[in-house]
Amino acid sequence: MTTTEPQSRDFKKLYKKEVANLRLRANLKKATIQALDKRNDSFAELDFDLLRNEAKKIKQESVSHLNELLSQFEDNAHKNNCAVFYAESPEKANAYILDVAQRHAVKKIVKSKSMVTEELRLVPFLEKFGIETVETDLGEYIIQLAGETPSHITAPAIHKSRTEIAQLLHDKIGIELNDDPTFLTGEARKALREKFLSAEMGISGANFLIAENGTAVVVENEGNARLSTSAVKVHVIVTGIEKVIPKFSDLRIFMRLLGRSATGQKLTSYVSLIRGPRRQNEKDGPDEVHIVLLDNGRSALVGTEHQEVLHCIRCGACLNVCPVYRSIGGHAYGSVYPGPIGSLVTPLFFGPKNAPDLPFASSLCGNCTEVCPVGIGIHHQLLAMRHEIKAKTKRGVEAFIFRTFRKTMLRPQRYRLFSRLARIFSSTPIVAKAFKGWTHYRELPKLPARSFREIYKSERGKE
Ligand code: SF4
Repeated sequence: MTTTEPQSRDFKKLYKKEVANLRLRANLKKATIQALDKRNDSFAELDFDLLRNEAKKIKQESVSHLNELLSQFEDNAHKNNCAVFYAESPEKANAYILDVAQRHAVKKIVKSKSMVTEELRLVPFLEKFGIETVETDLGEYIIQLAGETPSHITAPAIHKSRTEIAQLLHDKIGIELNDDPTFLTGEARKALREKFLSAEMGISGANFLIAENGTAVVVENEGNARLSTSAVKVHVIVTGIEKVIPKFSDLRIFMRLLGRSATGQKLTSYVSLIRGPRRQNEKDGPDEVHIVLLDNGRSALVGTEHQEVLHCIRCGACLNVCPVYRSIGGHAYGSVYPGPIGSLVTPLFFGPKNAPDLPFASSLCGNCTEVCPVGIGIHHQLLAMRHEIKAKTKRGVEAFIFRTFRKTMLRPQRYRLFSRLARIFSSTPIVAKAFKGWTHYRELPKLPARSFREIYKSERGKE
């Protein structure tokens, strides 16, 4: 197994552990309900369906013309003096980024939030080569200090209460034990400021890549991404190939949807439009900008029935509404991408063998599809993926049961025989044992002593 593969094969073990953690469930419930309330309020003044349709159209157009748009983006990025590297796999992306760092004798990197760098497991990779890589988003910084991975796409430390965070910062960076959020943020800012001033390289993600002018768009709330991209000598942008959109004017649609869907904000505090290194006569900015575009299974989805998962703008709203995510949290998924969208992209990016159970980790209630700002039919996609997995793996016992059930239902004689046997044996210990997994959380219904047909016959005989 490579270091970048998820641990989703262990989903059944992981979720059992997490679902029993009542404190985790309380933290998740509080945070997700708050996020959803804010989301709903912020959309009250807008026509969500209209905006969503426009966003969906742009994404459909972008993904259908992915190759052309990427070439156009690359040409324009080159004109803006950026280097562009296409990485087919996480290994190739990591090797390129390491090479850039080593060529510049980099000892310290400041990094802002990026799901693709999590997909690459970039931080542990760089640390192996002696390059200190500091997460500068507050949530990510907390997670890094805890030695954990993020548990939510937009709120990496959502599973922790403020008391837990206060204790962690006290233990790890020696600050006074005080769970006031303003105090904690101020202390983290002080610790991070020194890192910004001494780092030679910055790494960020990009929320969108604009083909018509080679601009990378970075959306954030803390100003740490802006510092990670401008107060350093070398800046590396790492993102997925599906982030490209055709025109600058398309951005206005996504800007209205992204902040509202993620945190209920009309607009995030900072939106940085990055078009290349510092120009002559400019005081701030890096000397070099590199853009690493990760494929890792994405291009293979174009033209398939799963193409629309490439529309995702990683807002995290589908996690907040998902009853499964809210019960088990992000770590149970064993993937950097948790929740409904994670259950789709993990098997697609890393192969279904690495995440055979994730598409089944859904009640198919459709809440995720309802809130998705780019109109991905998430629960339909999950259902389609279940069929594919079933068809490939032909899960033995279950497939046998359904085949037998079908044959039984199609033949009245067999149906009658089966019903009689079921009535005789349904309350015996052998049946209870066979259905023990199913009856762990629910009761097997009791079958009546006589069938409708038998009652009907005997009652008619009395007339
Ligand atoms: S699938 Fe939709 S709701 Fe979920 S993170 Fe992506 S854009 Fe947001």
